Amino acid sequence: MSWEANVRKVVPYVPGEQPKIKNIIKLNTNENPYSPSPLVYKAYQETDLDDYRKYPDPTCSELVDSIAEFYGVKKENVFVGVGSDDVLSMAFLTFFNSDKPILFPDITYSFYDVWADLYRIPYRQIPLKDDFTIDPLDYYSENGGIVIANPNAPTGVKMPLSEIEDVIRNNKDVVVIVDEAYVDFGAESALPLIDKYDNLLVVRTYSKSRSLAGLRIGYAFGCEKLIGYLLDAKFSFNSYTMNMPALKLGAAAMKDREYFEKTVAKVVATRENFKASLKELGFEFADSATNFVFARHPGKPGKEIFEYLRANGIIVRRFDKPRISEYLRISIGTDEEMDKLVSVLKEFL
Ligand SMILES: *Cc1c(COP(=O)(O)O)cnc(C)c1O
Repeated sequence: MSWEANVRKVVPYVPGEQPKIKNIIKLNTNENPYSPSPLVYKAYQETDLDDYRKYPDPTCSELVDSIAEFYGVKKENVFVGVGSDDVLSMAFLTFFNSDKPILFPDITYSFYDVWADLYRIPYRQIPLKDDFTIDPLDYYSENGGIVIANPNAPTGVKMPLSEIEDVIRNNKDVVVIVDEAYVDFGAESALPLIDKYDNLLVVRTYSKSRSLAGLRIGYAFGCEKLIGYLLDAKFSFNSYTMNMPALKLGAAAMKDREYFEKTVAKVVATRENFKASLKELGFEFADSATNFVFARHPGKPGKEIFEYLRANGIIVRRFDKPRISEYLRISIGTDEEMDKLVSVLKEFL
């Protein structure tokens, strides 16, 4: 028998490309087009490299406190990790430990099935409705846990909080994870429900609305007991997941509410203008509550549009998967970037 028989085999998640080419318009991984808060620059300039001799604070207290303060929760309700990918992965490992399948939509963040495979968690993917919405009734069957992205990715479609609550209320014997990576751009957060339901974990990230994808910071909210179980798993895995710069700069970013609100509002305004331009060009798309639009053109194959844009220095994302292969997921950049994209699209169509 070969050693390969005992390898934990998995087909990995494939992240969007980070091209080395200069002068490209990069609209493929939903990063924020605006710089991080000036308070982050200040904290960066004040860092002392000599501190790095030491281990970082394993409790991440400066970062956790800044998040607890921003959202008006107790620090016992907050968990942090190396991007929300780390937080979600740790949550899958901690909470999805049943023989029954966990449930998530067929079209959603394509890391969920990868973690389920990696951790040998059985799962069932539930088809979105034709308009890409989620029917809460589909999540009433017996299961080992639920994960829903709200707004969903890559569709951009949001679910009303009343329907999210319906799913949580009807699944009190399992943990329900709500992945709110894009919530700041236009959906209602489930955060106020953590006091009402002890089976709810709300997951957030610095990567999109806080312009810090490169620093890798994610966080989650839940009742104290739920967060306690997550911490136990995390401290059994790696005590020092978060490095010193992430802890310090992340806390600085969280303190600048005004800058955060201003940049989010700019992205939302650009998105609304971009939607109008796309409509004029004949694109079809479900309404987006995120910092991207998921659109197709009835007259042109998605692959051709994708390649034409790329040839013209504009990178967007396309998923070669059932139901969505004609769609392009286009991140919202600056007004100038979106104007350029629209003019290239006009040439092509
Ligand atoms: C971007 C994204 C994440 C992961 O973000 P991190 O950079 O790891 O914080 C998680 N869920 C969804 C739906 C995302 O789009």
